[in-house]
Amino acid sequence: MRPVHGWRPATIVGTARETASANSIRLAVADWAGHVAGQHIDVRLTADDGYQATRSFSLSSAPGEAPQITVERLDDGEVSPYLVDIATDGDALEVRGPVGGYFVWQPGDDAPLLLVAGGSGIAPMRAIWRAARPHGTPVRLVYSARTADRVIFADELRSPDGPETTVHLTRERAAGFEYGRLRADQLSALLSSGGVREPRLLVYVCGPTAFVEDAARELTDAGLDADLLRTERFGVGGPK
Ligand SMILES: Cc1cc2nc3c(=O)[nH]c(=O)nc-3n(C[C@H](O)[C@H](O)[C@H](O)COP(=O)(O)OP(=O)(O)OC[C@H]3O[C@@H](n4cnc5c(N)ncnc54)[C@H](O)[C@@H]3O)c2cc1C
Repeated sequence: MRPVHGWRPATIVGTARETASANSIRLAVADWAGHVAGQHIDVRLTADDGYQATRSFSLSSAPGEAPQITVERLDDGEVSPYLVDIATDGDALEVRGPVGGYFVWQPGDDAPLLLVAGGSGIAPMRAIWRAARPHGTPVRLVYSARTADRVIFADELRSPDGPETTVHLTRERAAGFEYGRLRADQLSALLSSGGVREPRLLVYVCGPTAFVEDAARELTDAGLDADLLRTERFGVGGPK
């Protein structure tokens, strides 16, 4: 894939409400040469007075699909409330990327996958499970969200095409969900299958920085080889 540098014009060509606080946005990007599952783009917005704001967003669509981002609103944030509540078809913005060569999945990475997501950290995981599925790669997802109505991609996760999924809710109890933050012993158990340690498991962890750091530490404390762990920190927010 040819790397493309610099800012390019993009247009919003579709939006989909995922939850009350999250929106998926499909983009038409000039000169888009495709992406690898797990990569992100930088998005630059320019106000009428020339003020610009730039933020990074993971691509939630699989390679071969139109570029899509999935944004969760931070109520006191600058950019995410616009992208979740105001952005609409035809809006113009600028895009740089796709970016990233480490937190990615590509055909040939044929080990079973464990995806550990917190909040909007589910976005690149969707790209990964959709990319890996046609290759027959086993994918297990553990997803931490605050409440049941904040579970992004809920329909896809319930469908037979979704990964094997466990959702942990940190702020409420609800039927069909685990309750509470992911514990070290639960993460440790995920590294084994039928009581036998899975030697080749590739583990991806993505979400707010504190979530990623806690999960990564607990996984490596449980014996996961750091070479088999790929992390992406979003820096903000989170399913506390
Ligand atoms: C690689 C990468 C991929 C990402 N992918 C996604 C994604 O797929 N989906 C997604 O929803 N997000 C993603 N993010 C996060 C995203 O880039 C934004 O950070 C997020 O949307 C918040 O932006 P904002 O402008 O709304 O908030 P901001 O205005 O940037 O504020 C963020 C938080 O910081 C606080 N804050 C702001 N300024 C200050 C200050 N001066 N002092 C103290 N606190 C302050 C705010 O109160 C708020 O809580 C990703 C981040 C990275 C790095």
